[in-house]
Amino acid sequence: MAAALLTACTAATPPTGQAPPVHAARVWDYRVWAGPGARELRVEVELPPGVPERLGVDAFAHPFCADLELATDTGWRPVERTGKVWVVPRCRESGCRLRYHYQLGAAAEGIDRFAYAGYRAGALLAPPSTFLVAPQDYAGADTYRLRVDTAPGESFVTGVWGSAGGHAAGADPPGTDGEWRAPAELLFEAPFSGFGRFERRVLQVGTGSIDLAIAPGASLGVSAPELDRALLRAGQAVSTYYGRFPVPRVTVIVLPSPGAQVFGMQLGNGGASIVLFVGTEVDAAALDSDWVMVHELLHLGFPTLDRKHLWFAEGLATYQEPLVRARAGIIDADQVWRGYLEGLPHGVPNGTDTGLDGSSRWGRTYWGGALVFLLLDIELRARSADGLSLDAAARAILSRGGDTSVRWPVQKTLAAGDAGLDHPSLSDAYVRFAREPVAIDLEALFRRLGVRLTQGRVRYDDNAELAAVRRALTAANGRPSPHDGHAGFASPGVPKSPL
Ligand SMILES: [Zn+2]
Repeated sequence: MAAALLTACTAATPPTGQAPPVHAARVWDYRVWAGPGARELRVEVELPPGVPERLGVDAFAHPFCADLELATDTGWRPVERTGKVWVVPRCRESGCRLRYHYQLGAAAEGIDRFAYAGYRAGALLAPPSTFLVAPQDYAGADTYRLRVDTAPGESFVTGVWGSAGGHAAGADPPGTDGEWRAPAELLFEAPFSGFGRFERRVLQVGTGSIDLAIAPGASLGVSAPELDRALLRAGQAVSTYYGRFPVPRVTVIVLPSPGAQVFGMQLGNGGASIVLFVGTEVDAAALDSDWVMVHELLHLGFPTLDRKHLWFAEGLATYQEPLVRARAGIIDADQVWRGYLEGLPHGVPNGTDTGLDGSSRWGRTYWGGALVFLLLDIELRARSADGLSLDAAARAILSRGGDTSVRWPVQKTLAAGDAGLDHPSLSDAYVRFAREPVAIDLEALFRRLGVRLTQGRVRYDDNAELAAVRRALTAANGRPSPHDGHAGFASPGVPKSPL
């Protein structure tokens, strides 16, 4: 049976006659051989003893896994699927070796969701959690190691980090097959990944690198230097905000898409990844005025939280993004305040809204969250004579290890942020807004800030109570707070946009 299975396999043939891999204890060791177009994968996995005996893959992905076999003393033995999972007591009892085929092409056609499996822009997008059969509901200190061989001319691109933390595994330049490693308890929601004939290059932003992978589907409306320049400018603006590029490495998968929009999604949880849909009608001028890249890059400096706290991450990035661009000279204060004046009303609770935790309404998640951080930032700046602001809390979270690659409880995130402040103000704001809807008089708030929209134009009142706070928010990056771990936020000299 084993021979028949191997013969039937169209994936690249695994090397034979090799000794079992020797590795440190507590590693889930995956080897993947991908056939042409990654339509079929052949996978072998070795699991250490003590892992949960229920094995599975991501949502919707189980029907595409075939021929799962367990290594026994007498050879390979088939394991039948029970519903959506495979139950293998031996894995828990003594560790186990398994092998299977994964029909990734059929999964991409059948599931057609790029966060699970889908063809987009000539690439096959699927995170490892789609095709790696793994112990379910695992919590512990194990790591998973993933090695992937692709068909000639193709590459596997992933936001999972390598053996050396955020840096790519070993000395592999992008475009070659490699090795990736991350905490096993985060495998269930692994970073964006894909197979295909990507165009690869690396952009360096200070200590960080943007590992760029452009899908082959269609020609972008911008040249490579124009795209690189826009990403570098966004990366530098975000670096200036945090004091450094927030992660050692982020994989940015660019998908040329129909239309004139840029749309992005970000996923950490064991690495750092961004998927950027760039409309083929997006030209250099449109890219210059884009806000999405800064928004997604800001997420890199914040830990992954449980989904019910989505407003926390999205509200923070929604609030920060225009300020970061203004301080870098990319947009002016009018554009910042126009955005807040038009956007924040979406965040005010309506009659049916609950607190922000668990909220799924777009306006509440993005603008409701942004309003919390505007109020907190104003409060900190208004009461502090030594430059305390929300920036200090954001930088304190990152300097304590809270980047997108880690998954933190909200309490740990709050404590890390409060460590950068003189009061537990972040925790106070969370308690106030997360559990109950809080009515905010936005008109009164904007009046105190001295900003309003009149006949489509942004007008200011410099005699308003909080006018100084309003001006400070968009001023170029000033001195860091004395409570902040970082020293010196020298502007990288980002050129002002021609727009
Ligand atoms: Zn976001």
